[in-house]
Amino acid sequence: MIFDGWRCSECEALFVSDHARCVACGSSNVKKEPLAGSGRIVTYTTVRVPPEKFAEDGVFAVGLVELEEGPRITARLSADSTDVSIGQEVRVREVSRELGPIFETVE
Ligand SMILES: [Zn+2]
Repeated sequence: MIFDGWRCSECEALFVSDHARCVACGSSNVKKEPLAGSGRIVTYTTVRVPPEKFAEDGVFAVGLVELEEGPRITARLSADSTDVSIGQEVRVREVSRELGPIFETVE
């Protein structure tokens, strides 16, 4: 599944953010750029006691994912990814309005 990142027209930085402002130089001269939605887990953690707003989600994993295109993002891993490992390949399963991209492992 494809989702959008941003490409800065000033410094060429590619990044993923809720805000249309370059994370490298602060420029707001940015354009949407589609990303393939695949990457690799750099590190991850399992959230066993979630914040109140995610209480119904139970135990879930959050990973630092390095996208194929280079940017690293922190994202939710799919609920059945409690057995994820560092270096594992992942891809976007869905893009949640609230959580952003949610990754699942690739067999
Ligand atoms: Zn920039």
